[in-house]
Amino acid sequence: MSDCVFCKIVAGEIPATVIDSSEHSLAFADISPRQPVHILVIPKSHHANVAELAAADPEALVDLVQLGSRIAAEHTNGSFRFTFNTGADAGQTVFHAHGHITARTPKESGGN
Ligand code: 5GP
Ligand code: ZN
Repeated sequence: MSDCVFCKIVAGEIPATVIDSSEHSLAFADISPRQPVHILVIPKSHHANVAELAAADPEALVDLVQLGSRIAAEHTNGSFRFTFNTGADAGQTVFHAHGHITARTPKESGGN
Protein backbone atom coordinates (compact mmCIF):
# COMPACT_ATOMS: atom_id res chain seq x y z
CA MET A 1 0.00 0.00 0.00
CA SER A 2 1.61 3.19 -1.19
CA ASP A 3 0.45 5.40 1.69
CA CYS A 4 1.19 2.93 4.50
CA VAL A 5 4.08 3.97 6.77
CA PHE A 6 5.02 0.39 7.65
CA CYS A 7 5.00 -0.71 3.99
CA LYS A 8 7.42 2.20 3.40
CA ILE A 9 9.68 0.90 6.18
CA VAL A 10 9.63 -2.58 4.59
CA ALA A 11 10.52 -1.00 1.23
CA GLY A 12 13.33 1.05 2.79
CA GLU A 13 11.64 4.28 1.74
CA ILE A 14 11.65 5.68 5.27
CA PRO A 15 14.31 4.87 7.86
CA ALA A 16 13.86 2.61 10.87
CA THR A 17 16.16 1.04 13.42
CA VAL A 18 15.87 -2.54 12.22
CA ILE A 19 16.39 -5.14 14.94
CA ASP A 20 15.98 -8.36 12.96
CA SER A 21 14.05 -9.94 10.12
CA SER A 22 12.84 -13.31 8.86
CA GLU A 23 11.29 -14.67 5.70
CA HIS A 24 7.93 -12.97 6.24
CA SER A 25 8.55 -10.46 9.05
CA LEU A 26 10.53 -7.38 10.03
CA ALA A 27 11.27 -6.05 13.52
CA PHE A 28 12.29 -2.48 14.30
CA ALA A 29 12.41 -0.11 17.25
CA ASP A 30 9.23 1.83 18.00
CA ILE A 31 9.81 5.51 17.19
CA SER A 32 8.16 6.54 20.46
CA PRO A 33 9.06 3.87 23.04
CA ARG A 34 6.76 3.57 26.04
CA GLN A 35 8.87 0.97 27.86
CA PRO A 36 12.63 0.39 28.15
CA VAL A 37 12.17 -2.32 25.49
CA HIS A 38 9.66 -1.42 22.76
CA ILE A 39 10.04 -3.25 19.46
CA LEU A 40 7.48 -3.65 16.67
CA VAL A 41 7.20 -6.86 14.65
CA ILE A 42 5.31 -6.63 11.35
CA PRO A 43 4.53 -8.84 8.37
CA LYS A 44 6.39 -7.74 5.26
CA SER A 45 3.13 -7.83 3.29
CA HIS A 46 0.26 -5.50 4.04
CA HIS A 47 -2.62 -6.68 6.24
CA ALA A 48 -4.70 -4.19 8.18
CA ASN A 49 -4.49 -5.97 11.53
CA VAL A 50 -3.51 -9.27 13.13
CA ALA A 51 -6.94 -10.82 12.59
CA GLU A 52 -6.74 -10.17 8.86
CA LEU A 53 -3.18 -11.51 8.81
CA ALA A 54 -4.31 -14.70 10.59
CA ALA A 55 -7.12 -15.22 8.07
CA ALA A 56 -5.08 -14.43 4.97
CA ASP A 57 -1.65 -15.87 5.74
CA PRO A 58 -1.34 -18.11 8.83
CA GLU A 59 2.22 -19.07 7.90
CA ALA A 60 3.24 -15.40 8.04
CA LEU A 61 1.55 -15.02 11.44
CA VAL A 62 3.50 -17.98 12.85
CA ASP A 63 6.68 -16.52 11.38
CA LEU A 64 5.92 -13.16 13.04
CA VAL A 65 5.30 -14.73 16.45
CA GLN A 66 8.47 -16.81 16.17
CA LEU A 67 10.56 -13.76 15.26
CA GLY A 68 9.01 -11.76 18.09
CA SER A 69 9.67 -14.54 20.58
CA ARG A 70 13.30 -14.76 19.51
CA ILE A 71 13.72 -11.01 19.85
CA ALA A 72 12.07 -11.04 23.27
CA ALA A 73 14.48 -13.76 24.40
CA GLU A 74 17.40 -11.68 23.17
CA HIS A 75 16.29 -8.29 24.50
CA THR A 76 14.40 -8.95 27.74
CA ASN A 77 14.90 -10.95 30.92
CA GLY A 78 12.08 -13.28 29.79
CA SER A 79 9.16 -11.17 31.05
CA PHE A 80 7.51 -9.22 28.27
CA ARG A 81 4.24 -8.32 26.59
CA PHE A 82 3.48 -9.11 22.95
CA THR A 83 0.37 -7.11 22.08
CA PHE A 84 -1.65 -6.43 18.95
CA ASN A 85 -3.92 -3.40 19.19
CA THR A 86 -6.75 -4.19 16.81
CA GLY A 87 -9.13 -1.43 15.75
CA ALA A 88 -9.15 2.28 16.45
CA ASP A 89 -11.12 1.92 19.68
CA ALA A 90 -8.36 -0.38 20.99
CA GLY A 91 -5.70 2.21 20.21
CA GLN A 92 -4.55 1.00 16.81
CA THR A 93 -3.15 3.97 14.92
CA VAL A 94 -1.17 2.27 12.12
CA PHE A 95 -3.37 -0.03 10.05
CA HIS A 96 -0.64 -2.45 9.00
CA ALA A 97 -0.59 -5.45 11.38
CA HIS A 98 2.05 -5.19 14.08
CA GLY A 99 2.86 -6.70 17.44
CA HIS A 100 4.41 -4.60 20.17
CA ILE A 101 7.08 -6.32 22.26
CA THR A 102 7.35 -4.29 25.45
CA ALA A 103 9.27 -4.98 28.63
CA ARG A 104 10.34 -3.11 31.72
CA THR A 105 13.53 -5.08 32.12
CA PRO A 106 16.04 -5.24 29.28
CA LYS A 107 18.38 -8.16 29.22
CA GLU A 108 21.51 -7.08 31.06
CA SER A 109 24.05 -8.89 28.91
CA GLY A 110 24.25 -9.14 25.17
CA GLY A 111 23.07 -5.61 24.42
CA ASN A 112 19.57 -4.25 24.06
P1 5GP B 1 -0.56 1.17 17.42
O1 5GP B 1 -1.00 2.33 18.26
O2 5GP B 1 -1.14 1.24 16.02
O3 5GP B 1 -0.77 -0.17 18.08
O4 5GP B 1 1.01 1.30 17.31
C1 5GP B 1 1.66 2.01 16.32
C2 5GP B 1 3.07 2.22 16.82
O5 5GP B 1 3.87 2.59 15.71
C3 5GP B 1 3.20 3.34 17.86
O6 5GP B 1 3.77 2.79 19.06
C4 5GP B 1 4.11 4.37 17.19
O7 5GP B 1 5.02 4.96 18.09
C5 5GP B 1 4.80 3.56 16.11
N1 5GP B 1 5.15 4.29 14.91
C6 5GP B 1 4.33 5.10 14.19
N2 5GP B 1 4.98 5.60 13.12
C7 5GP B 1 6.24 5.06 13.16
C8 5GP B 1 7.39 5.21 12.31
O8 5GP B 1 7.40 5.91 11.30
N3 5GP B 1 8.51 4.52 12.68
C9 5GP B 1 8.54 3.72 13.79
N4 5GP B 1 9.70 3.11 14.07
N5 5GP B 1 7.48 3.57 14.61
C10 5GP B 1 6.35 4.24 14.29
ZN1 ZN C 1 1.30 -1.61 4.98
